[in-house]
Amino acid sequence: MKITLYNTQGRALEPFEPLDPQNVKVYACGPTVYNYAHLGNLRTYIFEDILIRALEYAGYPVTHVMNVTDVGHLTGDGDDGDDKLVKAAVERGMSPWDIARFYTDAFFSDTEKLNIKRPTIVCKATDHVQDMIELIQTLEDRGFTYVAGGNVYFDVSKFSRYGDMALLDRTELKAGARIEVDGNKRNPQDFVLWFTNSKFGKQAMLWDSPWGEGYPGWHIECSAMSRKYLGDQFDVHCGGVDHIAVHHTNEIAQTEAATGKDPWVKYWLHAEFLLTKDFKMSKSAGNFLTVGKLEELGYEPVDYRFFCLGAHYRTQLTFTEQAMDAARSGRRSLFEKIRQLPPPDPEMDRFSLGSEALQYLNRFEDHVAEDLNMPRALAELWGLLKDQSIDSREKGFVALAMDRIFGLGLADLWNGSEQQIGEADQERILKLIDERNEARKQKDFSRADQIRDQLKSEEIELVDTPQGTTWKILERNL
Ligand code: AMP
Ligand code: ZN
Repeated sequence: MKITLYNTQGRALEPFEPLDPQNVKVYACGPTVYNYAHLGNLRTYIFEDILIRALEYAGYPVTHVMNVTDVGHLTGDGDDGDDKLVKAAVERGMSPWDIARFYTDAFFSDTEKLNIKRPTIVCKATDHVQDMIELIQTLEDRGFTYVAGGNVYFDVSKFSRYGDMALLDRTELKAGARIEVDGNKRNPQDFVLWFTNSKFGKQAMLWDSPWGEGYPGWHIECSAMSRKYLGDQFDVHCGGVDHIAVHHTNEIAQTEAATGKDPWVKYWLHAEFLLTKDFKMSKSAGNFLTVGKLEELGYEPVDYRFFCLGAHYRTQLTFTEQAMDAARSGRRSLFEKIRQLPPPDPEMDRFSLGSEALQYLNRFEDHVAEDLNMPRALAELWGLLKDQSIDSREKGFVALAMDRIFGLGLADLWNGSEQQIGEADQERILKLIDERNEARKQKDFSRADQIRDQLKSEEIELVDTPQGTTWKILERNL
């Protein structure tokens, strides 16, 4: 499988040629752990999971590094605002360390529910402050920094490629088009590497440094930790599109300035945003949906993964309850179709497939290889399941092969460990059955029918028996 990826650096599709095919190195900017990850964040992590799975499917061993930001990320991506963690700690009367621990655990619990594989290396910013200090010292020795008002700044005017990846307009940069609040800066785009001049009276997270007691800026952590675990140059760096203009631009400047190596990263990949109808989902604005909230509303976490697979990662995706309902119905119907197939035959392999079934798999691989086109890849799975000319054992084999990338957990459907309908949803269905019984008692047949139809639209069929009403997943003919 020859993969093509859209590189933000150069804004073009490029064939993926790793630096070392025996060890493909990927760095993904991880969560800032001052709150739950919202569904937008998780869309980006699902995209990164698909990327890793696709690379592994193509035969590359992958080292996937993800940081956990537990210090230094201010409420603005520049150097403005409060430290997100410290702010949350003060608001909730907890220590920043406790806040970070709690939300880091919550993050990995959510990602596990979404079948996102744990990265090879997860590294916390607070465990790597010394690495950051050493990197800042290198930048200082090479003349890229200055100290003003107690803070150490990166001087962007010393780095001629500043803003290239983001296509920032250099004339605008010079003119200081952005409104700048920090009077210490020589250029508006300069950014803090080390703060000693904390804006917070009670900053609980402080470390000794050559510039005084303080804490690191946010951008330096990704440069220091990726360098530590992946070396001076590596294959892929990813994150959401919001990171292009500031965070990744600053990461490139400080890393390439420190190592003198260009390019630091060969492929920059960025996922588009998840939007809700009226607003962009944002943790700091507080208007966000979580996996826990989805479960409360009666969805399975995997319904959300399925929902995300329905859109290409480079298009914006709007979250609505109707769209989630459609995803839940689609996912249930898919699981039911898979469940009807015989269990996979361990003797089967790709070479034993008939040409029809193999064509589905080949087309699926072509779509994945074409910049991870999951909507098209998913259409191949539906096509396969509907195709009457294909033997059901072959269908099962191909569906499982595809699921190595979809990550919907199809293999669990045969070993019984997968729970098709979660507990919260089962409760909701039982409540609706009670309500329907009551409506029938009151001879309110239109309400009773309405409930039956609503459940049917969710792929749930009600079965009336002399002992009472039960429910089952709707069986549709393939
Ligand atoms: P944060 O925890 O804010 O540092 O963000 C974690 C990841 O989620 C980063 O890669 C962001 O670019 C990404 N992200 C933030 N908001 C959204 C959104 N609404 N949709 C998709 N990705 C997002
Ligand atoms: Zn980062």
